[in-house]
Amino acid sequence: MTPKTTGPVTHCQICGHTKLIEILSFGHQPIVQEYLTEKMLHEPEDTYPLNLVRCSACGLVQLDYIVEPKKVFPKEYPYRTGLTNMLLRNFRQLADTLEAEGLFKKGDLVVDIGSNDGSLLVPFKKKGARVFGVEPTNAAKDANKKGITTVQDFFSAVVVKRILKKHGKARVVTATNVFAHINDTSTLVRNVRALMGEGSLFVSESQYLLDTLEKTEFDCVYHEHLRFYTLKPFMRLMEMHGMSVVDAERISAAGGSIRIYAKRGKHPLSARASKLLADERKAGLYDAKTLREFGEKVRQKKRDLVSLLLECKKKGRIVGIGSPARSNTLLGFTHIDTTLLDYLCEKKGSPKIGMYAPGTHIPVVDEGRLLKEQPEYALLLSWHIGPELIQILRKVGYKGTFIVPLPRAEIVAD
Ligand SMILES: [Zn+2]
Repeated sequence: MTPKTTGPVTHCQICGHTKLIEILSFGHQPIVQEYLTEKMLHEPEDTYPLNLVRCSACGLVQLDYIVEPKKVFPKEYPYRTGLTNMLLRNFRQLADTLEAEGLFKKGDLVVDIGSNDGSLLVPFKKKGARVFGVEPTNAAKDANKKGITTVQDFFSAVVVKRILKKHGKARVVTATNVFAHINDTSTLVRNVRALMGEGSLFVSESQYLLDTLEKTEFDCVYHEHLRFYTLKPFMRLMEMHGMSVVDAERISAAGGSIRIYAKRGKHPLSARASKLLADERKAGLYDAKTLREFGEKVRQKKRDLVSLLLECKKKGRIVGIGSPARSNTLLGFTHIDTTLLDYLCEKKGSPKIGMYAPGTHIPVVDEGRLLKEQPEYALLLSWHIGPELIQILRKVGYKGTFIVPLPRAEIVAD
């Protein structure tokens, strides 16, 4: 049975099984990148169910509602990969690794799905690869401006045909922080496979459920992330389409991710991937009890964060540092709004400046205001790159106290 591609999810997004068990409910939440203008504050705001469920057959953890992709990734989608240093480092490392292992060479075609502003392809191009990006939002325009050829469209059979006709098969196909975003898994994998020849490599990076559980990283749950990959269901998905996972590794990107390598045809699994598979089992990722406990831990984290902020608020002003997508789940689920946080600071040049965060309606301002006003507390909403942010903000002259919301709500000394 083909799973439904939008609306309530009644069948597992990989195996089609109907028994989906709830792990955690976030209630109804807005789309995390749907920032509001002043005018929009006076209009109704759309929200959608946000619940985490687990397939009792293949173990895939997934959302139980899929929002229309055009709503989730509108043309004016504000995020630009190039603003996140952690990701730029990760992409350079990926290009270095693949080159060192002889997995692509000068003149080979590298295609990136959901390529945003082309940041992933830049180091591949520098190494002499021909590069091609596919990106539905206006980030594609930024990519083209910096010389990374990008088609502004959703990744589809039509786009694949066009690439094949003009550029031929890809040596490497990448999908980073996007493979869990596309609603119809069967069509997606078929299209990826069509781009590949024998010996081509598919590289997927997604937030990893093992990290999500270890760090109680519940803020990575939002409507963009339809599936929370672990190795076992991912292998099943590849096998369903005549591909096999050949290797997998944990990487630190995006608060803890899994990088999975797959090829066409049947191939053995590497030793480190087999070990990861065993680690997943040991950690209880396919265990109903572990996942239920995760749900309870998340509710406790919510209470801890709210009580810490209430304490701090008695002593001074609190502002948020950054307004990443993930922070809107965190703030929405914990009901933290301008009662506690005066504003959210974004780096100069961010298209979110002058807008309001979805759901909580906290204003987003230029980071310069933090330095001028010196509020007593700064809540690091990109807590997964907390130490790097603290260093930067101290250097530019912020003198207040830092708070991290996760993995434990606490004041951090530096
Ligand atoms: Zn399933």
